[in-house]
Amino acid sequence: MWCPRCRTTLAEAEIEFVKAKRKLYYIKFKVKETNEDIVIATTRPELLNACEVVIYNPKDERYKNLKGKHAIIPLYNKVVPILEHEYAKPEFGTGLVMMCSYGDTRDVWFFRELGLKATILINPDGTMNEKSGFLKGLKIDEAREVIARRLKDEGYLVKVEEYEAEIPVCWRCKTPIEFIHTREYFLKQLEFKDDILKVADMMEFKPLEHKTRLELWVKSLAMDWPISRTRFYGTEIPLWRCKRCGYVILAELGKYVRPWKEPPPVSSCPKCGAPKEFIEGETRTFDTWFDSSISVLYVTRWLDDREGSLKALSRALRPQGYDIIRTWLYYTILRVWLLTGKPPFKWVRITGMGLDEKGRAMHKSLGNVIYPGPYLERYGADAFRYWAAASGKLGSDYRWSLNLVKTGLMFCTKLVNMARFITSFDEPREGTYKLREIDKAMIKYAVKVAKEVARSYKELDVFEPIHKLYDLAWNVFASNYLELIKPRVYKQVNFSDEEVNGAIYTLYKVFRLIIKLLSPIMPFVTDYIWRSMHNGKSVHREKLSDKELEFKEGDERLVDALVKINSAIWKLKKKLNIRFSEALNAIVYVPDIARPIVDDIKYLHKITEVRIGRPTEWDEDLGDGIYVKFLR
Ligand SMILES: [Zn+2]
Ligand SMILES: [Zn+2]
Repeated sequence: MWCPRCRTTLAEAEIEFVKAKRKLYYIKFKVKETNEDIVIATTRPELLNACEVVIYNPKDERYKNLKGKHAIIPLYNKVVPILEHEYAKPEFGTGLVMMCSYGDTRDVWFFRELGLKATILINPDGTMNEKSGFLKGLKIDEAREVIARRLKDEGYLVKVEEYEAEIPVCWRCKTPIEFIHTREYFLKQLEFKDDILKVADMMEFKPLEHKTRLELWVKSLAMDWPISRTRFYGTEIPLWRCKRCGYVILAELGKYVRPWKEPPPVSSCPKCGAPKEFIEGETRTFDTWFDSSISVLYVTRWLDDREGSLKALSRALRPQGYDIIRTWLYYTILRVWLLTGKPPFKWVRITGMGLDEKGRAMHKSLGNVIYPGPYLERYGADAFRYWAAASGKLGSDYRWSLNLVKTGLMFCTKLVNMARFITSFDEPREGTYKLREIDKAMIKYAVKVAKEVARSYKELDVFEPIHKLYDLAWNVFASNYLELIKPRVYKQVNFSDEEVNGAIYTLYKVFRLIIKLLSPIMPFVTDYIWRSMHNGKSVHREKLSDKELEFKEGDERLVDALVKINSAIWKLKKKLNIRFSEALNAIVYVPDIARPIVDDIKYLHKITEVRIGRPTEWDEDLGDGIYVKFLR
């Protein structure tokens, strides 16, 4: 496969398919034996002289009478056999197909299978060569027009139809690819397809659904991997070749050489003894993936320490986008497996693509590329990371959102403020505190979230964790629990010293969990906070112990009840146009579940009285079993 514009060979992974309108030319051929006309549809009339055989499907009854006969190619008067072959689809065109060298990969296989001699009409620069006769020197598109006109003038063109086709193009320049003959170096891959699928099973894919993309790709491969390129920039292919006998001389292992300008490492051909002048340095470069497919071996110093390298790979994680599954991921698996017999990674974490705020792919030409630099500068890395974690599920595309970055920054500030508040109290020693029901419930609630977050982290997910931790830290812990215990820790109301300490103990316990669990996503602010709380010790040296995720007492539903009651009363105060800190001259009825926090609720909202149960009459029904009777 060849890109006539880049003038280099392409591997299957470098081919993209684009939808395009194509003309389908219906051309009259003569049957040599009977002189009857047959009509063949083709998109490539300029390849007429490369046609070696005409086929129809064995099930196609229309053409049974053509079996064993010959067709005469118009304009060129070349005689080719007519055969039955299942490659021909009865529903395409007229059901008769001219097989040329080559319109697509299928043709390549067809020619190989039937042992046909291929005639190549196209030069590496995308012009027609002398074998195309009167089309010589024309570009492919021009040649198509010229021959179509001539076919029409001479009465061979029956009709032209437009149809939408999937056209293979070069990924780099989008030029339609051509099939020509060039000598290239290949890496065998077809015979290892089953092995590669087995190696894929030895790794964990997160999320699992992207593994299918790899499997489909491996199964679809139809040729070995051409690894040599006629490109200027690239890694030089490290070998020389004897012009007399064809013997290949390799460079010394581990040494980077430039054979096109450096002398060979031998004074004569080791095989035929030809002198140095006969030994020619390779001028081509490698496919770029030939290097990057072994970057994991390079960074783990495989050449110096094979055992150490393999040990590292057995715990390695590959993070990458789904767009390079068929290149970086596939080639890495292939090459590392061929070289080491092992899978290159333990985990493969596949992310989606970053899109702009409107959900479009970022392109320089659209002017919608977001460069992180200025945002990192202005909002900090943690805020930026907050957006990256919060904006999309693992494996799905994620949109740019400045609002989420700003939320991330506000979250950082909130955490620092929470740390300031909490550390303004000394952490109570063991035996000096007593937990109230709401304290136990708060810890239990936080532990439950922590377990869910830990489970998500094991799946290499950060999306669920950031949303759960944000909700826990800000919406539940800061907005509700912290507010609730303020009257207690400021000793504005009558609680025992042990109960005051119970609140402070809970603050430390829950906040530590939050900071630890947030540290992988927001490493800077959490480390800053942790160090300020623990004499400069880094949070990134901490482990989350099983003990921290164990808390048997309490009923976390009490926290849900607290959140509901608080928001109902705050909403009511807003409606009544009184400040949150002002007294509410009323009796508030709350459901039975809230029994243990009746006093706390009363102090927090400065309510005259809080009662359990449903009243017989009320002024406001706030929902969730909360009623208000105003006192006048
Ligand atoms: Zn190209
Ligand atoms: Zn030789």
